Amino acid sequence: MPVYEYKCSRCSAVFEKLVRLSEEDELRCPVCDSAAVEKLVSKVSPLGEEDSSGWGSSCGTSRTSFG
Ligand SMILES: [Zn+2]
Repeated sequence: MPVYEYKCSRCSAVFEKLVRLSEEDELRCPVCDSAAVEKLVSKVSPLGEEDSSGWGSSCGTSRTSFG
């Protein structure tokens, strides 16, 4: 399981946490129980940038249904 480091912007505590795919928005500081935590940049950054500009919905290219 991936372990990410987070830093609380309220008390500046740094902690690690196992984060699943849909648990990121439930993070809380274990020290002051604040939800104002920010994800620290991992030491090993994988190649590739997340580009979330404004792509339309691109579904698959294969269409086999015909009316
Ligand atoms: Zn805190």
